[in-house]
This record gives sequence, C-alpha cells and structure tokens, in this order.
Amino acid sequence: MTDLLIVGGGAAGLAAAACAQQLGDTVMVLERMDRVGKKLLATGNGRCNIMNLRKPVYPSGGDFARQVLRAMPPASQIRFWRSIGLFLREEAEGRVYPCTGQAATVLDVLRLAVPESCIRTGQTVSGLEYRQGAWHVYTEEGDHAARRVLLAGGGAAQKALGSDGSCVRLLRDRGYPASPLRPALTQLKTALEPIRGLDGIRVRAGVRVLAGGRCIHQEHGEVLFTSYGLSGVCILQCSAYADCPGSEISLHLYEGLGLSESELTEELLMRAEKQPEHLLSGMLPLRVAQAVLRQAMPEKKRIDRHCVRDIVQVMGDFRIPVKGLQGLDHAQVTRGGIDPSCFDPDTMQSRTEPGLYAAGEMLDVDGDCGGFNLMFATAGGLLAAKCGRKAPWEENT
Ligand SMILES: Cc1cc2nc3c(=O)[nH]c(=O)nc-3n(C[C@H](O)[C@H](O)[C@H](O)COP(=O)(O)OP(=O)(O)OC[C@H]3O[C@@H](n4cnc5c(N)ncnc54)[C@H](O)[C@@H]3O)c2cc1C
Repeated sequence: MTDLLIVGGGAAGLAAAACAQQLGDTVMVLERMDRVGKKLLATGNGRCNIMNLRKPVYPSGGDFARQVLRAMPPASQIRFWRSIGLFLREEAEGRVYPCTGQAATVLDVLRLAVPESCIRTGQTVSGLEYRQGAWHVYTEEGDHAARRVLLAGGGAAQKALGSDGSCVRLLRDRGYPASPLRPALTQLKTALEPIRGLDGIRVRAGVRVLAGGRCIHQEHGEVLFTSYGLSGVCILQCSAYADCPGSEISLHLYEGLGLSESELTEELLMRAEKQPEHLLSGMLPLRVAQAVLRQAMPEKKRIDRHCVRDIVQVMGDFRIPVKGLQGLDHAQVTRGGIDPSCFDPDTMQSRTEPGLYAAGEMLDVDGDCGGFNLMFATAGGLLAAKCGRKAPWEENT
C-alpha cells in the first residue's frame, strides 16, 4: 500500500511528493492533465514568483495562512528548495524567484526529485473513501489505496491549466464546509466611455476602490487600460474589493509628478494659453490626457481658471465605474473553497478524519500578488508530507 497518495501534481502536490520521497515514504501523484505542473509554468509571467519575504498578505483565510507559515516559514521553504537543487534570488518588494528567472526550472527540480514512476498523469480522481483501514481514491482506472491521502487539486482559476474545483467537491461531498469558488486577482470590466481610446496604455497611479463613494481599498502601481476595462498588478489586487454593485475605481493620475494639488494648479494656469490638447503634454500620455479633458470639460473648448480647477480635480480622481470582474478563467487565484479551519495548520491533516490532508488553493485562503499563493501551497504540501516528522533539510533545533 502506498504511504502517501497525492491528488494533483501542482505546486502543493509536487512539493509534498518531493519531501515525502526525501523522508523515505512511497509516494504516488495522480494528475488529471497530461502533464504535471502546468499552472506552475504560467506563474509570474513564466518566471514563477515562488514566495515573498515580506509580511504575509492574505485578504482571505489570513489567520490560517499565517499559522501554516509559522509552521513552515519562508526560511525553511528556501532550505527545502535548495535541498532539491533550486537556487533562488530575492527581487523588489520581497519577491523571490528562481535564479534562472524561469518557472520551468522550478518544475525541472521538482520532477528530478520525484521519480517518474511515482507520477500518473491523465488520472482524474472522482471519489474518495476510507474503508478497511486504508484511504481509497477512485479514478477511471480503478481504486488506489494508501495510508494517507493529500488532496492538492487547487481551486478553479484558469481551468485550462488543470484545477477545476473537483477536489473541493470531493471534500464538500464528505461534509466539509465550502464557500463558493469565485475569482480573485483578476482584471476588472468597467464602463468603456471613460477609457475610450486607451486600450494598451499603461500609467502609474494611485488606485482607490470606492463603494458608495467611500474608499474601501487602495493600491499604488501600474495600471493597464484594456479593451474591456482595467488590468495590471494593482488592479488585480483591488479586484476582490471591487466585486460589489456600484463600485468605482478612482485613479490618482498625478501622483508620480511629485506635485501638490496647488502646485499642479499653478503649473496648469501657466499653461492656460495652450490649446486644450497640449495642456497636459509632458505630464500624461496624450490619449490619457484627452480622456481627462473629456471628463473634466466635456463642453468647453477654451481653458480658464474654472477648467483648470476641474482638470486638477479629475487628474486626482479619475472615475471609472466597475461593471464586474473577469471570470475564473482569467483569474490568477480562486477565492472560496474548503473551510481551512477543518485542518490542523501544523500538519494540514483533517481534524476529524486522520490520514486525510489538504493543501493549497482548494482551501479558502488567497494571497496578494507577490508570491504569497505559491508560498502557501508549498508550505501546506511540505507540512502534509512531513506529517510531524523532521525533514532532512530542517535545522537541528
Ligand atoms: C497565470 C497565473 C500566474 C500566477 N502567478 C503566481 C505567482 O507568480 N506567484 C504566486 O504565488 N502565485 C501565482 N499564481 C497562483 C498559483 O499558481 C496558485 O495559487 C498555485 O499554483 C496553487 O497551487 P496548488 O498546488 O494548490 O494548485 P495547482 O497548482 O492549481 O495544482 C493543482 C493540480 O491538481 C490537478 N487536479 C485538480 N483536480 C484533480 C483531480 N480531481 N484529479 C487529479 N488531479 C487533479 C490539476 O490538474 C493541477 O495540476 C498564478 C496563477 C496563475 C493562473
């Protein structure tokens, strides 16, 4: 009988398989796709932002995530990665990447650490039960028995890369509470008139999410205007907050100029002689400037003191009504899933069913951009594999 059977050959499942292998366990990974690690290859724009060394940010399931990361902190994860041959480097904002800058390197070291004979692809697990002293998982091929089972099937974001929510359903059918799977870290669909003509343009801006006119979240960074709305890292981070009717995005477009409101007003008054289309030259991309003028002075043709006041106001609060989120097929992460409190954050073992473990995105935990999601998935996989034992790469404390 297999010691550890892992459902899902993604970040959590492969890290678990490598660690269990190091501990001398027999391991089997069942993966529904034709190859493991498809999503891993797509992460960080193909560079795999594998973890983050700054304060953990998990808008959902934060308490559980922090407990898991206390049990398997980034320093221990780095030692694990080194033990299987992966060198990492830290970049801006605590983001950690493989030193090759390629996600493929991460998958390579994982595949080298887990013998091919332990991985079965094209195997969708559709059933799970405990009987006669063992866990049994069912695929079309039949029944696989194991002492312990780790469910690591991910959430439901970007189904084409593998995870389709089926592992969440497996646990929900066993009575584990689950909240609906929704997109997180995704682009925003917005009203199109305010951003007409801006498709493909990037700006650096302060971004506020407004609900009923009140700011409920803010970010700073790059915003990408698209044909359907807004994208860019800080928009993805705002997406979970903008998922309510009537919400708006407000862009602060002169933040990067280093001017106060009165200095900007003074600057524009000095330029007031210019044709409107040249008023904001050198400050904003031309088409963004045109969009600001459309919002600030829809009728007027000439610049006067009142116009300048309106333009400054719009530059500091460029409003774009949100129409909705791009769906799960575009999201980087799933919000919702199995209630993590059903699992022990030190081992990822079910609190009610010994021998059953879960890790990664199928739990109702999601982190910000920056490596937090892979870090949580890896941590859970390693803890489940260790199952309270000391791994060879752990410090002697
Ligand atoms: C485009 C993109 C970029 C991202 N970039 C980053 C990043 O740079 N940093 C970061 O921290 N996070 C990033 N993420 C999020 C991160 O990839 C996920 O949170 C993480 O991969 C989750 O790991 P997991 O092991 O839980 O699930 P997954 O990696 O999704 O793996 C689950 C695996 O289980 C398999 N599976 C599912 N159900 C079954 C079943 N019933 N039977 C058998 N197999 C099954 C799936 O095919 C899949 O291979 C990104 C996500 C996307 C989509």
